[in-house]
Amino acid sequence: MFFIIWGWRGRQREVGAGEFYCPDCRDRRGYRLVAVARWFTLYWIPLFKTKELGQFVECTTCKSTFNERVLEMDPQEDARKFEAAFSVAAKRVMFKMALADGDLDPSEVDQIVKAFSNIAKREIDPADIEAEIEAARDDQRSISAYVAEVAPGLNDTGKEIILRSAISVAKADGVIDPSEIADLHELAKAIDLPKAYANGIFAEESIQQM
Ligand SMILES: [Zn+2]
Repeated sequence: MFFIIWGWRGRQREVGAGEFYCPDCRDRRGYRLVAVARWFTLYWIPLFKTKELGQFVECTTCKSTFNERVLEMDPQEDARKFEAAFSVAAKRVMFKMALADGDLDPSEVDQIVKAFSNIAKREIDPADIEAEIEAARDDQRSISAYVAEVAPGLNDTGKEIILRSAISVAKADGVIDPSEIADLHELAKAIDLPKAYANGIFAEESIQQM
């Protein structure tokens, strides 16, 4: 008796590799992109491909496998982008505050440089200061329009940082006038900081509450 032994089996082939954010390792890792195909076999020897079955991503560290869409995710990159946008908005708010009383004195600029380096963890380039002043002067939007875009993604701590930065700038020239107080109240509302939380900060800074 003579049998022809035939069948199918899946074969894997590496079609790509690189770095990605592994959701299981919760960190950046290497990956392999693997294509799977079904092959026709004769006497267990694959002869030809009968069907492409798809591709998957495998983490080279934990060996977990994922749909290819995982390569588009990157929470760390998203966080970096958000922090950059947040720093830019905080800087613009501070210059806007400083310009509210008509002129900008050196103590205010010093304060902004200090506050910005605390928030962004880097120094402002002095050449950027002139450019930022011009941009803030030209921009007719209110402070609330500036922060409207970043506020929804901020937690209360982030909101507090923005408000305290603005307060430090308002205080830099020694006096806080009623228009600055109005601006600070507007800012607290625009970033949607809970009123009791905002008033706690204002009380601590000896500024009239909302
Ligand atoms: Zn992993």
